[in-house]
Amino acid sequence: MTPPSDQNARQPGDWIADRMHLIDASGIRRIFDLAASIENKIDLSIGQPHFETPKPIRRALADAVEAGHNGYSPSPGIAPLRDALQQQVDSQYQHDDRQLMVTSGTSGGLVLALLCLVEPGDEVVVFDPGFMMYRHLIHLAGGTVVTVDTYPDFDVDVDRVAAAITNRTKAIIYNSPGNPTGAIDLPGTIDDLARLAERHDIVLISDEIYSRFCYDRPFHSPATTNPNTLVIDGFSKSHSMTGWRLGFAHGPASIIEQMIKLQQFTFVCAPHPVQWAGLAAMDVDVSPHVEDYRRKRDRLVERLSADFRIGGGAGAGAFYLFLEPPGGNGTRFVEQAIPYGLLIVPGSVFSKYDSHIRVSFAVDDQTLDTGANLLVQLARQL
Ligand code: PMP
Repeated sequence: MTPPSDQNARQPGDWIADRMHLIDASGIRRIFDLAASIENKIDLSIGQPHFETPKPIRRALADAVEAGHNGYSPSPGIAPLRDALQQQVDSQYQHDDRQLMVTSGTSGGLVLALLCLVEPGDEVVVFDPGFMMYRHLIHLAGGTVVTVDTYPDFDVDVDRVAAAITNRTKAIIYNSPGNPTGAIDLPGTIDDLARLAERHDIVLISDEIYSRFCYDRPFHSPATTNPNTLVIDGFSKSHSMTGWRLGFAHGPASIIEQMIKLQQFTFVCAPHPVQWAGLAAMDVDVSPHVEDYRRKRDRLVERLSADFRIGGGAGAGAFYLFLEPPGGNGTRFVEQAIPYGLLIVPGSVFSKYDSHIRVSFAVDDQTLDTGANLLVQLARQL
């Protein structure tokens, strides 16, 4: 017997679905690799709060594990958490049709939303710069990414969004306060965007993960104006629970029901004991942490504004500044910072342009001051 010919055998690379080639993680991976190789780093590249998860939340998690809440939970979430969140949402919006589910992080909510809404050929509008996960998930769902530029001030121009809409547009993904810019749009702009989506029957997906971190004006959701807005939210940033994977989504029942169905056959449920910790988190006041970040934001803006261009709306929320260094080359600036142990993220990780850097101020004051001094020193060398 001759052995089967291996001429047509797949090479390891052939095992991988084409859709994976649409995801390029090389930019951010390079930063992680560099970060791992540097000792005594001043790390301003971090996208998570620096404060410890509040004690009552940690205790609630330990208690839930000890109490045996370790099996699967119902797919939409444990009833006490789902009810408490639903009550909070209902008191905010009074929408008859607004239903809520618990998800595996905000990311889990985004995965479910895009897989439930987007089909091959559909277009989804995202803003540039913006959180890269959006475009990867749109591609995974077979959709087409349509970007709307917000440079140089990072405020959304609703006319530009209107111009990007076609009869294939299915959804708009909006994120205010935004990553990487920290920009918060004016309430009038948010309302205009909400109405535009409503007029064109487009699902507005509002990623509200940074809603607690608003420094210059109160948080305003497009769901206030457009009751069909699908809100994706979570505990990662607000309660420093990034590794615990707890989020929630609320919106029209017709969408949430499909997302619950898909969760049942993908994530199954959000981590069960963590959901009990989330219930405890709802009673924790995080405003001192928000105040601390406002102070850090002010301190960093004061130190950097003479040497970097800071876009108009930038830094109004979240915990990032998106800065244009002298010379307007983000990657070059990041590379120059590395020998000094300073880690920041080039704008190209979030954008088709490479003119900016993202600086996180979710660090202790000493790291912030050392980092600010190094940033100024580097900018003056250019
Ligand atoms: N949306 C935005 C804008 C984010 O910045 C992040 C985290 N970096 C997420 C979603 C994902 O958050 P989670 O940990 O809840 O999945």
